[in-house]
Amino acid sequence: MTPAVGVLALQGAFARHLDVLRQCGVDGYEIRTAEELAGCEALIIPGGESTTMVKLLETFELDEPLAKLLAAGMPTFGTCAGMILLASSISDGRPGQRCFDAIDIDVRRNGYGRQINSFEADLHVDELGGAPLRAVFIRAPLVERAGDDVEVLARHEGVPVLCRQGPVLVSSFHPELTDDDRLHRYFLERIAGT
Ligand code: GLN
Repeated sequence: MTPAVGVLALQGAFARHLDVLRQCGVDGYEIRTAEELAGCEALIIPGGESTTMVKLLETFELDEPLAKLLAAGMPTFGTCAGMILLASSISDGRPGQRCFDAIDIDVRRNGYGRQINSFEADLHVDELGGAPLRAVFIRAPLVERAGDDVEVLARHEGVPVLCRQGPVLVSSFHPELTDDDRLHRYFLERIAGT
């Protein structure tokens, strides 16, 4: 049985994630309500604007249910703003900006600079074997610390950009924006257990 894979769809780049899931043979679904979240067995938190996303989570009363699911070990993949939400601490966030402490990393919001400093890079990811992974960074968070229990799966110029701790995978880039679906497949097969 394929687990129900939800994509948080309050804001940001959720639609492309659903396309990539489809390409991987998985029918993901959009999550906007607590009921939809409750039915979810694996979750993708997309890129977008973390300050807005966290506000919307509160407005729609998804924040506490999400915190519980994460604490219970739900397989979760956070990309860019999604990484910020899952981190254990944020610098340059909005004052008091909540993060869910699902992976032991400290991130600096917009740590690579502003929109104009967006860039692409080829990453070497052992776990994906073969060809380098093309990664698109858009106002990306910079990982300033990764704890001992965090597996760094890829670095860019020495800085971790793809990290995993148990059921939680995070990337500072946008893996849904290229045609390469290997990272989604890694999440689905190796973490979510499809
Ligand atoms: N800078 C954004 C934030 O703080 C993240 C950018 C992105 O997700 N592409 O949420």
